[in-house]
Amino acid sequence: MLNKTKVVATIGPATIEKEQLRRLMENGMDVARINMSHSDYNFCREVADEIGELNKELGLNVAIMMDLMGPEVRIGHFVNGQAHFTKGDKVKVYMDDVEGDNTKFSVSYPNLINEVTHNNVISVSDGKMLMEVIDILPDAFVCEVLNDAVIEDHQTLTVKDVKLKMPYLTNKDETDITIAHKLGFDFIALSYVSEPDNVLAVNDVLINLKNNHIGLISKIETEEGVNNIDAIIQVSDGVMVARGDLGVAISLERIPGIQKKIINKCHSAGIVSIVATELLSSMEHSARPTRAEVSDVANAVLDGADAVMLSGETTVGKYPIETLKMMEKIINSAELDVDYGDFISRSANAVKEDITGVISLGVADAANRLKCCAIIAPTQTGYTARVMSRFRPSCPVIAVSPNLDTVKSLQLHFAVNPVLIDELNTFDKIIEVSKKITFKLVSTKPGDKIIITGGYPFKEVKFTNFMKIEEL
Ligand code: PEP
Repeated sequence: MLNKTKVVATIGPATIEKEQLRRLMENGMDVARINMSHSDYNFCREVADEIGELNKELGLNVAIMMDLMGPEVRIGHFVNGQAHFTKGDKVKVYMDDVEGDNTKFSVSYPNLINEVTHNNVISVSDGKMLMEVIDILPDAFVCEVLNDAVIEDHQTLTVKDVKLKMPYLTNKDETDITIAHKLGFDFIALSYVSEPDNVLAVNDVLINLKNNHIGLISKIETEEGVNNIDAIIQVSDGVMVARGDLGVAISLERIPGIQKKIINKCHSAGIVSIVATELLSSMEHSARPTRAEVSDVANAVLDGADAVMLSGETTVGKYPIETLKMMEKIINSAELDVDYGDFISRSANAVKEDITGVISLGVADAANRLKCCAIIAPTQTGYTARVMSRFRPSCPVIAVSPNLDTVKSLQLHFAVNPVLIDELNTFDKIIEVSKKITFKLVSTKPGDKIIITGGYPFKEVKFTNFMKIEEL
């Protein structure tokens, strides 16, 4: 059974070994994510090499996503890798590098001292420790710790209700984008996107690198990002509801509503949505998830998210493979409860009254009514497959393409299973290839139907202009 909701798994110490990557790939990881807040060039190269080799060996097309660190402030290092803070401690925060302990530490943004004021509340490590600014000295500012906490090296630091003046595109991000380009990555996730210009700045770097295939995923994790979501969607290939940092920037109880709105808006605009962070976080330490986590994953599927993401569960968790298997199981079950008819009606309202719009609506509707076992979309650019994904058909959409960049770019789209083929041949040949691939990927019985749809003549027509129903 091919799952329709895609899974992004973050690679870290628990999964970097080739055998672990192989198990992730064999058990349903569609996209491997590298978090650049904790990774360097060598790590990226190792992942790219290993996934490239395993894709060939296993006949898969797992894509790779680089998640940029973004314009964030990080604390420096502590004497023993961590420090224990107690409520009431006075801590000096230095702009220059110092070895940290429970009386002092440094930060990565030298201008921070000029942007904080008395009584500002500082959040460290996604809110694990809160501190209040009580004094500003020439080379450091002094804070009072507001709760007991153990803080580790290089954690994030934010100032509540203050928008720092850091430029969006940092030197580190620019260097990392070049690495993503050189290593042939497929997606870049942009941290802390607050306005469309942030996405355009990254796009400009890619244009200079003459890279036109990396998909840009905007992470929504600030109040401004939430407020500017419509404009951000206009310039993005996808949006990630980054609930970790979002839950620090805004109150937690607002997140479920924001998540649903963002998924709906992405669906209407025809771009992908990803729900991220803490979906199965108890499985970092336990072989079973909580009931609430199972509901969380299932609800993301029922809401119509294209993909769900694992972070700590697969980077440092004790049960990375079990977690992925559990996620696939929940997705599988939730997809049986999806109201596919409702998705088609909603998409029909947003569809353009052109040839592509009318044909693809017809394909999705016919596939559901005839209980087809697959829709096959031969495609050069991925266009037909993306349009079909938006209709959320009840059967898988198998996108067949001779273009590897296209194949990987479709790995985040709901229901789309991209397959690399030698070339887009004659119409008769494509029908033959479509049947063969269906037999290989889907369980079928005689009399089952498939629909083949795309733009014909292949390579010439850039829109969807045909549908052909075939009986197996
Ligand atoms: C998040 O904040 O939810 C997120 C996905 O970003 P990161 O893992 O970089 O914190």
